[in-house]
Amino acid sequence: MGRPRIGAAFGRHFRPEGHFDRAAAHKPILVLDGVVKVYRADAPVLRRVDLVIERGEFVFVTGPSGAGKSTLLKLVYRSETVDEGRVLFCGRDIARLTDESIPVLRRNIGVVFQDFRLVPYWSVAHNVAVALEVSGLPSRIIRSRVSMALERVGLAGRGEDLAGTLSGGEQQRVAVARAIVNEPAIVLADEPTGNLDPVLALDVLGLFEEINEAGTTVLFATHDRTLLEASPRRIIVLDDGRAIEARSGLAGLSSQMGRPMAAERLPA
Ligand code: ADP
Repeated sequence: MGRPRIGAAFGRHFRPEGHFDRAAAHKPILVLDGVVKVYRADAPVLRRVDLVIERGEFVFVTGPSGAGKSTLLKLVYRSETVDEGRVLFCGRDIARLTDESIPVLRRNIGVVFQDFRLVPYWSVAHNVAVALEVSGLPSRIIRSRVSMALERVGLAGRGEDLAGTLSGGEQQRVAVARAIVNEPAIVLADEPTGNLDPVLALDVLGLFEEINEAGTTVLFATHDRTLLEASPRRIIVLDDGRAIEARSGLAGLSSQMGRPMAAERLPA
């Protein structure tokens, strides 16, 4: 893992005169404190999740389908709200952010989804630039940031192509470029390799590792055991609504818990 750094956008938006104070730079990037999320009263998704993610970490979140991986990520980027507990981003309770602070949070969080979520009849560059358009930056700066992001994901020179004409692996790279173009402090990836074949999946995992090595925190949700085994990283397992650290990889989970774990029912 590279030396953790604060992304340029992070530094800019988290100045003391901004909405987040200087002390924020020394707090864990993300804390989930007693988080409960219930859609159906008889089957809470997250029963009490406690989790601390430090700046610069690469963390896998795993568990079988339905375990609550997407829900956990949605709570972080505020597409869902907690029923109990708190989500702290750089020490700030995101439920208490003011209307002006929410765009600051969103700029500091890049999100990549399983289904890419590109507009197929827009150019690759337009799909990436859309993340910057609300920033009010001059178009010259937007163009230069977009081409830098495309270069980082290995798509230099492809900006004018229509997104829908790219292969699945390339489309996911465009989505990664869109997620990093604001230089967010953290990137959340929700099964980003779920629509890709195994070789491309490893390729995309490698891309997230490069992004992490450049200093961005990565929270990567997957139920793909091959990825978890390909890369010896911190693994958080969602099991029965709680987050458990797989301290010695997935293999040691049963002995750690004294019972079979949901993650061991992941596909082989
Ligand atoms: P995972 O990402 O691990 O597959 P999800 O977070 O998508 O799991 O879903 C966890 C559980 O919450 C599932 O049982 C799912 O059906 C339920 N769920 C997710 N979103 C909603 C929603 N908006 N309304 C009702 N139930 C939901």
